[in-house]
Amino acid sequence: MTDVLGIADPVDELICSGKGCRAVAVWGLLWNNPKIHTPERRKVWLSCQDHRDHLERFLGARNFLRDTVPVSELDRVIPGDPA
Ligand SMILES: [Zn+2]
Repeated sequence: MTDVLGIADPVDELICSGKGCRAVAVWGLLWNNPKIHTPERRKVWLSCQDHRDHLERFLGARNFLRDTVPVSELDRVIPGDPA
């Protein structure tokens, strides 16, 4: 399946999105819910090494998962920049 080029939301603190987890994130899970997001939009869930599988399964089961990339490839929110 051909996917459109996604535009990921910039991320702020690199903290895992896992429930109750405050570990440093190393992966960015890029996802899109076609019912509420435009096709090129990519929401980003950050994940530590331990939670990647869990979060990928959660998004994959809903067909929301589009890609997983190292956090180094993600755009960062510029500190002090008005949102
Ligand atoms: Zn975690």
